[in-house]
Amino acid sequence: MAKQKISRARKTRPKFKRFCPDCVFLVNYNKLDLYFCAAGHHKAPYLIRYGDRKENFVSGPGDSTLFSELQVAKMEAAQLGCDGHH
Ligand SMILES: [Zn+2]
Repeated sequence: MAKQKISRARKTRPKFKRFCPDCVFLVNYNKLDLYFCAAGHHKAPYLIRYGDRKENFVSGPGDSTLFSELQVAKMEAAQLGCDGHH
């Protein structure tokens, strides 16, 4: 299977401010903070934060075709074991 290009620009620290105490930081990917939130505070469980303002994020499902970052978030969450199976 072809290796996906998820290894580029991965960082383990968030770049932006975090606003939701229930969001779990997953990874900083391509200068975007990826989060998983099981608490249902957002429209969808996977979040991409792109700025320091509270509204600077988008949420979506892990199988989103709109933002590949959401798929990365889902994979990261699965690796961390926090994708809702606990
Ligand atoms: Zn949250």
